[in-house]
Formats: sequence, structure tokens, C-alpha cells
Amino acid sequence: DTTLVWFRRDLRSFDHAALHHALRRSRRVFCVFVFDKAILDGLPQRDRRVDFIHASVAALGADLQQLGGHLLVRHADAATAIPALAAELGAEAVFANHDYEPQAIARDAAVAAALAAQGRGFHSFKDQVIFEKDEVLSQAGTPFSVFTPYKNAWLKKMQADPSCLAPWQVEPYAASLAPGAGTLPTLAELGFEPSNLGELAIPTGMAGGAALFANFQARVADYGFARDYPALKGPSYLSLHLRFGTVSIRHLVRTVAELSARGQAGEGGAVWLSELIWREFYMMILYQHPHVVHASFKPAYDAIEWETGPEADAAFAAWCEGRTGYPLVDAAMAQINQTGYMHNRLRMVAACFLIKDLGIDWRRGEAYFALHLNDFDLAANNGGWQWASSSGCDAQPYFRIFNPITQSEKFDAEGRFIRRYLPQLAKLSDKEIHAPWLVPRMLLAQRGIELGRDYPEPIVQHDAARKRTLERYAVVKAPA
Ligand code: FAD
Repeated sequence: DTTLVWFRRDLRSFDHAALHHALRRSRRVFCVFVFDKAILDGLPQRDRRVDFIHASVAALGADLQQLGGHLLVRHADAATAIPALAAELGAEAVFANHDYEPQAIARDAAVAAALAAQGRGFHSFKDQVIFEKDEVLSQAGTPFSVFTPYKNAWLKKMQADPSCLAPWQVEPYAASLAPGAGTLPTLAELGFEPSNLGELAIPTGMAGGAALFANFQARVADYGFARDYPALKGPSYLSLHLRFGTVSIRHLVRTVAELSARGQAGEGGAVWLSELIWREFYMMILYQHPHVVHASFKPAYDAIEWETGPEADAAFAAWCEGRTGYPLVDAAMAQINQTGYMHNRLRMVAACFLIKDLGIDWRRGEAYFALHLNDFDLAANNGGWQWASSSGCDAQPYFRIFNPITQSEKFDAEGRFIRRYLPQLAKLSDKEIHAPWLVPRMLLAQRGIELGRDYPEPIVQHDAARKRTLERYAVVKAPA
């Protein structure tokens, strides 16, 4: 009558499906988090995400302690450590929440097999989404591959059965939590050095997620408008918390639905809910079509020939380091490099620029984001990159090519975001700042700027690049 709950991307002690079911079914519930060597060993020594997880695990441990329980923490290969720990504790079963990434699915299958060999069970539950896998299907009973009909079906399903938003209670059953003792390994013991997460004042743990959400609720009505302008505090900044489960998706959706019902969420509430549905859409796509991890969602797009060789490598390095000569792109890359966050509009602009101005394989950009984004999530990142390369599940044609100058003029008209990340351009006027190479050299000199010295010349001409992209993409139309 003993169960082990394995925490992964669900670092909270409230509204937690696996913990709820474990507590209701057994009399003694142990909790564990594993700093998984299989994942951590591939990361750089300074990684904001490891810092975030470390702080959030500490907070989770403290909270479980308050409830009368204890969080065991291990630094090991999870696939072997979990069955070993279950045996040591005499647990009849391990409970966890579903993870939809192919590697996690394989790991969970291995753990389940090892547990089964010892006569123990492995049970997992839907927790990080409202609807998963094949819960939202077309009338023909097949998974959707286009967002809008998926979203409409999703909303209909939610409205038909509001119990899908009900919390998985923990506190009323907390008496079954097994107490314990033990300490959390330090970052150094895990082989990491502190990142600049603290300096950036990024809130961690359940309390951090709750504070961000409280702040966002006061702004949600403006979200529909404000979310597109990177200089504004428009979005929620909850992606990192959604990634590691320090917030509950049911709580977020329920709260926004309640605000909307009271007329307090304006149009923003519906737009924000739509973004949360995008998150589930991409998780569903990844689950249904795991080939997207390596290949285009639409196979015809794998025939595209990308730029390779030393010139392409140099262009890629310039993009990574924010030296393309296009201020909005460079400011966006400075944002990700310095903080690990990038505004959604800028993710679209920077990704389109790499693919359609530099002709570089979207997978290289995807990998760069995967390493540097605090909120890196395989499904959302892959979906975003395949959207930008037009190879994904999107009805838009490939000849939609963002113009990095017009995007800049439209979404950072006064150059406020650009000035924040590229102070060397601060003296340019609001009109000049979007394309410094078009400003007469004399004028630039008056503003103390020399192109090539203070800021790069553009590494590519957008109009010429656009033509090359249309040629490159022509293979997509060719019969197979
Ligand atoms: P908000 O605007 O407040 O949105 C609320 C939540 O909705 C987000 O936290 C996120 O969970 C979800 N969401 C919003 N937009 C999307 C979207 N387009 N797809 C899926 N979920 C969405 N998001 C990630 O969480 N991880 C990634 O690795 C990631 N990579 C991306 C790569 C590219 C090329 C693009 C174009 C988008 C990517 N996104 C990713 C989606 C989006 O940019 C971020 O979720 C958003 O900017 C996070 O900020 P926020 O929490 O303030 O968002």
C-alpha cells in the first residue's frame, strides 16, 4: 500500500493529477525528483533552466514538508534510479504525469518495463494539458492538422464538460504523505555554476508562477493588443512556469474563463486562451507525428536545399550573435542571449530571417533556441520553427516572407525595444533606427556611428534574399 510519485515537469504540490491519485489510492506516498543525468550531462555548465529547476525543487520540497511529506531528491539516471528507488521503498507502483516528447515516452516505457519485471506498476495521468493526444478529433475521428478547427473543437469540448477544469486536490488527502529527511544537492554538487537567473529577477517556483499570473490578470484585457509590441509588458511571461509545471493549466484556464464571464478579461482573455490552445495543439501534433522532431511536417518541404558551407556558417554565427545588421533581428538575438527569453513576435521575425533571408535550415535555428530559451519546449519550439519555415501544419503559403524592416517599423515604431538591446543605435531617430544602412554616412557620423565599426552593415539584402527564397522553395510545388 505504498506508492512513489515521480515529479518531472510538474513541480507543484497543488492541483497535481499523479499526486492526487496516489494519495487517494494508497496509505503511504513517497515523492521524488531526479536531476536526470541523461538530460543534464548534455547541458552547458551555466544553464538558467537548471537554476530555475533547482530553486523550484527546493520550493516544492518545502511545500511538501508543510503538508507533512518530504521530497526525495536524486542525481542519477532516472531510467534506472526510479525502479531502484521503488524497490528500496517497497512501493507497489510509481505514479507520474504524462509527457508527450518521444524521448520521454521511450524513457517512461523503459521505466515501466523495469518496474513490471519487479512486479510493480507504473501509472501515468494527464496533467499538463486540458486535452491531450486524441481527445480533440475531427468529425471523421482523425487528429486535426490545422489550428482553427482544432481550436473550435477544443473550445466546444471544454464548454460541454467544465469538469475538465476541476483541480486535482492534494491537501484534503495529505495525511498519506510519507515524512522524511534529507537535503537538496547544491548546484555545484550537480556540476553546475549559477547563471544570471537571480540577477534577471526571474521568479521561480509555485510562488513565482502565482505572482506572475496575478500581475498578468490585471493586464489580460489589453493582451490582444499589447502582446504584439516587444517594448510593452504585454504577455504573461508564464511560459517557463508552464514548461516546468509550477503553475497549473487548469487554474490558468479556469481563472481566465471566470474573468471573461464577469466581463473583466476584455478581448484579451479569449486571445490568451487561444495561445494556451496553441500550446496543446503543438503537443498533440508532436505526439501524433513524432517525425516532426527531425523532418518537415509536410514531407515535400524536405526537398528544399539549404545554404551550407563556410559562408552559411558565418551567416549563422552572425545571426546567433546578433550581428546581421538588421536591428530588430539583432536586438531579438541579444534578448535571448542575455535573458533566455524572446518575445513571441521576435521569435517569428528572427526565425523567418534565418530561414528566408539567410536560407539556413530551420533545424539549426531550432537547435539554437532549444539550447538558449529558458522556456524551451520541444513541441512549441518545433511548431514555431516549422511555422516559420512554412513546412508545418499551417495553411499559409510559403511565399509569406516577413520583411524585417517593415516588421520593425510596425511593431517597434519608436525603436524602444531596439534601443534597450542595442544602445549603440540609441541616437538614431525613430525613423532611422530600423535600417541604419539607409541613413547617409554624414548623418550617421553626426550621431557617432560608423557602420562596420559600431554596428554591422547588413549581411544580406532583403529583396535579393526574398527572390532566392522563392526559387529555393519552388521545389515544394514540383510533383514528387
Ligand atoms: P503569452 O503570450 O503570455 O502566452 C501564454 C502561453 O501560451 C505561453 O506561456 C505558452 O505556453 C503558450 N503559447 C503562446 N504562444 C504559443 C505558440 N505560438 N505555440 C505554443 N504555445 C504558445 N513557446 C514555448 O513555450 N517554448 C518554446 O520553446 C517556444 N519556441 C518558439 C519558437 C518559435 C520560432 C516561435 C515563433 C514561438 C515559440 N514559442 C515557444 C511560442 C511563444 O513564442 C512563447 O510561448 C511565448 O513567447 C512565451 O511568452 P509568454 O509566456 O509571455 O507568452
